[in-house]
Amino acid sequence: MNLRDLNKMTEGFQNQGGTKMPMLFLGHGSPMNAIEENEFVQGFRNVATAIPKPNAILCISAHWETKGTMVTAMQNPPTIHDFGGFPKALFDVQYPAPGSPELAKETQKLITKTPVELDDKWGLDHGAWSVIKHLYPNADIPVIQLSLDYYKTPKEHYELAKDLDALRNRGILIIGSGNMVHNLRMMAWDKLNADDYSYDWALEASTKMKQFILTNNHQELIHYGKQGKAFEMAIPTPEHYLPLLYILGIKEEKEAITLFNDKAVAGSLTMTSLKVG
Ligand code: ZN
Repeated sequence: MNLRDLNKMTEGFQNQGGTKMPMLFLGHGSPMNAIEENEFVQGFRNVATAIPKPNAILCISAHWETKGTMVTAMQNPPTIHDFGGFPKALFDVQYPAPGSPELAKETQKLITKTPVELDDKWGLDHGAWSVIKHLYPNADIPVIQLSLDYYKTPKEHYELAKDLDALRNRGILIIGSGNMVHNLRMMAWDKLNADDYSYDWALEASTKMKQFILTNNHQELIHYGKQGKAFEMAIPTPEHYLPLLYILGIKEEKEAITLFNDKAVAGSLTMTSLKVG
């Protein structure tokens, strides 16, 4: 019997002998990554093999912004195709991972810094399923989503995240899904297939972000609005950046960080992803 079967037999989400689950920040990029075969997709597959198989996943996606903080609590979250203008093949994708009302309630209890509402209307948006499907193609691991409250400051998101830390001791994989540099209006569409094509400002913002991440200089990242022009252009709206602050908020100072998929696409978007722990 493996560890996972053993855990299934125990009630709820028990501690796996004190080992903390790693965490991931995944740069999700275009929804087409859900059905394309490319190096980023391979990067997602590779990282799944480098971490223990989780009991469940909690995903903070750039694509679920709400008034207040919410957590999906349905038994069977629908696959949400929250985009337009893509081929039918993408709309045909279903990711039928179960939800976990139990984990949703536990998460609601764990978060004390703000009230958390249980949601039965959302499901899995493409920020979650387009990447998680590559990690766990069998859709056999329960997934819940935690929303981004668009009334909270970056600092409040960062602090709220710390309440989620206890989930890591229970075999729960916490995933932040967004993009560190994400400016769709500036995309160089003619350079879509150029390898690691980056505008100067995107490269500058990306380089500084990585330096701050790798040296645990979180204050600079929380107060990204003070970083000047390059950050302004890299983060025109906060939703793709904030999932990173969740992962960093939970991270312990001594924990190792591994970067992967560390490339720019079409000038103004980076796929840079992190494994923490
Ligand atoms: Zn997105």
